[in-house]
Amino acid sequence: MTLRQRWRIDRHSSAGLIIRTYILIMLVTTGLSAVFTAGVVSTLLIRNRETAAIKVIQSLQASFVHQSPNWDAWQATSEEDSSRTYVKIQTITKTGRTDAIFYAPGTRAYLAAKHRNAPIFSAVRFVDGHGVFYYRSKLTKRAYYQVWLSLNSILQVVQLTLLSVLVVALISFVIGITLILLMTRRLTRPLTDLTTATQTRLIRGWQQQALLPVPSAPTEVKQLADSFNQLLTSLNDQMAREHQFVADASHELRTPLAGIRGHVSLLRRRGQEHPEIIADSLKYLDEESQRMQHLVENLLAISRNDQMKLSLQAVDLSDIVKTTVMGYTTEIQRRIQIQVPPTCLVLADAESVRQILMGLLDNALKYAPESSNITCALTQQNDKINLSISDEGPGLTDENKKHVFERFYRVDEARSSQVPGTGLGLAIVQQLVTLNHAKIIVADNQPHGAIFTVSFGPLVS
Ligand code: ADP
Repeated sequence: MTLRQRWRIDRHSSAGLIIRTYILIMLVTTGLSAVFTAGVVSTLLIRNRETAAIKVIQSLQASFVHQSPNWDAWQATSEEDSSRTYVKIQTITKTGRTDAIFYAPGTRAYLAAKHRNAPIFSAVRFVDGHGVFYYRSKLTKRAYYQVWLSLNSILQVVQLTLLSVLVVALISFVIGITLILLMTRRLTRPLTDLTTATQTRLIRGWQQQALLPVPSAPTEVKQLADSFNQLLTSLNDQMAREHQFVADASHELRTPLAGIRGHVSLLRRRGQEHPEIIADSLKYLDEESQRMQHLVENLLAISRNDQMKLSLQAVDLSDIVKTTVMGYTTEIQRRIQIQVPPTCLVLADAESVRQILMGLLDNALKYAPESSNITCALTQQNDKINLSISDEGPGLTDENKKHVFERFYRVDEARSSQVPGTGLGLAIVQQLVTLNHAKIIVADNQPHGAIFTVSFGPLVS
C-alpha cells in the first residue's frame, strides 16, 4: 500500500468528516485570533502614539526661542525619531490672526504628498511615498501645532504579531491533522477490518459457526462486533434447527412411504393369486396414509405457527376450558375433571388456547391408562394464571422433561410401544404457548403421572 493510498480519505467517512470539521474550526479560530490580536495590538500602539504626540507638542512649546521654534534644540531633546516626525506650527497674534508658519525639516515636502484617511482610526493617515502616520493637533493661545508621527515601525510590530499568530496556527494545524489522522485510523481500523471480514465471508460463502473477529477497542466497535456475532450465532442456530427439521421430517415421511410402496408391490405381485392378503394390506395402507396425513398436517401447522402473530384479547379461560373439555369428552366418551373458578380473565387468543388444551389432553389420553383420572384446573399464583392438565400415566423422567418440547422428540417407550404420534404435538403446543406470551412447564404428578402447566400473564387493562 503506497503512502498516498494509506492516507487517502473518503470525504464521507468519519475520518473525512472529523478532518473537515477540524479544518473549519482551525480556520475560524485562526481568523478570529488574528483579527482580535491585530485589533488589540493596533489599539494599544495607537494609544502609545497619542501619548508620544502630546509629548512632542509639549517639547515643541518648550523649544520656542524669540517667537520661533528652535528645531535643533527640539531634535536634540525629542524622544521620537525626529527625521520621521513632521511638524507644522502656526503662531497666532493677539487678535487671532496667523502670524507666522514654521515647518520642521522635511515637512513641506511631506505635506505636498497625497494624504488619505484610514477607515476606522481617523487619526491615521496614509501618505504617498512616506508610509502610515499618526496625526495630532493642538490649539493654544499663541500657536496651532500639527504633528505627524510615523507608524511604520508600529505596523511592523502588528505584521510580526500577525505572522506569529499564523505560524503558531500553521504548526498547530499540522500537528492537529497528523494526530487526527492517527486517531481516526485507530478508531476506524477495527470498523474497516469488520467490514472486510464480513465481505470475505460473503464472497467465500457462509460457513456455519464462522464468527467475526472482535477488536478489544474501541468499546463501541467491540460491542457492535459482539452484537453481530450474537446475531450470527442465533442465525446459525436457526439454520441448524431448520436443517435438522427438514432431515427429521424427511426421515419421518420416508418410513411410512417405504411401507406403503412395499405393500403396493406386494399387492401387484401376489394380490391376484392370494386375495386373502388384500384386506390386511389395505388396512396397513389406510393406517400409514392416515399417519402420513397427520404428520403433514403437523408439519404445516409448525411452519404456519412460525410465521404467525396473534392479536391477544381479554378472554374467559374458565369458559374456554369448560366448552373445550365438554366438546372433547362427547367425542371420546371419557370423563375429565374440571376445577375452574366461575370466570378467569386473561390476555390470550381463544382459538389457540383451545388447540393447546386439546394437544395436552390428546397426550394425557394417549399416555395414561384408560381408567385413570385426567384433571383440568385453573389456579392463580401471585399475578399468574395457571392452566394445568394432569394425568396418572407413566410421567416423564427428568431427562425427558428437558426434551419433550423439541420437534420430533419422542420418548423411547412411546416409540417402541407403537403409540401413534409424530413427536410434533408438544412442539406445536409450545409454539402456540409462546404466541400467547405464556410459558409451559412439565412436572411430576403425585403419586405418578405428568402435569403440564401453562402460565398466562396478568390481564393488564
Ligand atoms: P407424540 O405424542 O406425537 O409422540 P408429542 O410431542 O406430543 O409427540 O410428545 C412427545 C413425547 O412426550 C411423546 O412421545 C411422549 O413420550 C411424551 N409425552 C407427552 N405427553 C405425555 C404425557 N402426558 N405422559 C407421558 N409422556 C408424555
